[in-house]
Amino acid sequence: MDHVECIVIGAGVVGLAIARHLALAGHEVVVIEAAEGIGTVTSSRNSEVIHAGIYYRAGSSMARMCVAGKQALYAYCKDHGIPHRNCGKLIVATSASETDRLRGIRAHAEANGVNDLQPLSGAEARQLEPVLSCEAALLSPSTGIIDSHALMLALRGDAESAGAAFAFHAPFLRARARTSGFEIAIGGATPIELSCRLLINSAGLNATAIAHNIEGMPGRLIPPAYLAKGNYFSCNARSPFSRLIYPVPEPGGLGVHLTLDLAGQARFGPDVQWIDTIDYTVDPARAERFYPAIRRYWPSLPDGALMPSYAGIRPKIVPPAIAVQDFNIQGPREHGVSGLINLFGIESPGLTSCLAIAGHVADLALD
Ligand SMILES: Cc1cc2nc3c(=O)[nH]c(=O)nc-3n(C[C@H](O)[C@H](O)[C@H](O)COP(=O)(O)OP(=O)(O)OC[C@H]3O[C@@H](n4cnc5c(N)ncnc54)[C@H](O)[C@@H]3O)c2cc1C
Repeated sequence: MDHVECIVIGAGVVGLAIARHLALAGHEVVVIEAAEGIGTVTSSRNSEVIHAGIYYRAGSSMARMCVAGKQALYAYCKDHGIPHRNCGKLIVATSASETDRLRGIRAHAEANGVNDLQPLSGAEARQLEPVLSCEAALLSPSTGIIDSHALMLALRGDAESAGAAFAFHAPFLRARARTSGFEIAIGGATPIELSCRLLINSAGLNATAIAHNIEGMPGRLIPPAYLAKGNYFSCNARSPFSRLIYPVPEPGGLGVHLTLDLAGQARFGPDVQWIDTIDYTVDPARAERFYPAIRRYWPSLPDGALMPSYAGIRPKIVPPAIAVQDFNIQGPREHGVSGLINLFGIESPGLTSCLAIAGHVADLALD
């Protein structure tokens, strides 16, 4: 059986960032990926927003890693010529009660180290975005958008240049614990076994199922898995906005917000739809809920402008009644299994945070 120092399960943006980090630090890395290529699952089904880090619970892993990851990501994009735009976002209040909530959002952001939010009157916001309807707004200058595919290609390129190897169509099946490390069974058309010292479970929606197939991993520390689908609608009208537009958050979600792709095309979503099995189809009927929500800040949205687009699925580890979760990244100190790191619940802002998550995982690996 061949031995490698480190196996990373999953070539999404997080697995790629981890592989790059470890390979650049001189470790021997093999990434095993069930699909035919990199980033075919959640990493290519998201909003491609570089989040500022405004809403997450102060002191949470999401808050810390989003703020650190955002800075690292902007620097990485500049260094590697990755298409991105620091376009900014407006959080808009469309009633007096929402205007009061903007103050709370600003204070919350400051607790997370996001000190650049600018309060705007409705008139000031309309100077920036003339068709916007709102009573007041907060401008987040550090929010941006990114070409996530270009990012993943760059991460893979860095990892390979530093010696990392990639195996596609190579689904992890199970790991047996050995004195120092693991023996890994990999399926696919030509099943193989590899041994490794360090095993990193970065399999997104499958991370919890995989953890159950790692010998020695205490089952009580593996969180339950739930699926929360986010549906997107594209807009066949030209976007009159040059910044991202978010309503004041509502219980359970960020509200129906407008994001832009790098070509300036607007899309709306994601909404929140709890599901039992993975299914990426977008029900056109859900547009009925989008129109009134969008028209609160964009009254002139034309009838018939929304088209079903795509969906992504959040890897939830808390049930709908709780809904707010944090990244759950476990190393040997948490679960007692030497050489194993599990990444559970890496939902948004996982893309923004990928470089910070990679640094944290490398620290756990050397702990
Ligand atoms: C609707 C939505 C919108 C989002 N918007 C944003 C945003 O705007 N900004 C932001 O920062 N974040 C956003 N996110 C979060 C972000 O997309 C994710 O956090 C990130 O993509 C997770 O990357 P990952 O590598 O952990 O998972 P994935 O991209 O899911 O990668 C996991 C990989 O593991 C592989 N795999 C699974 N099982 C196995 C197995 N048995 N063997 C081998 N390989 C396996 C899969 O094929 C996959 O390639 C959003 C998420 C969703 C759902």
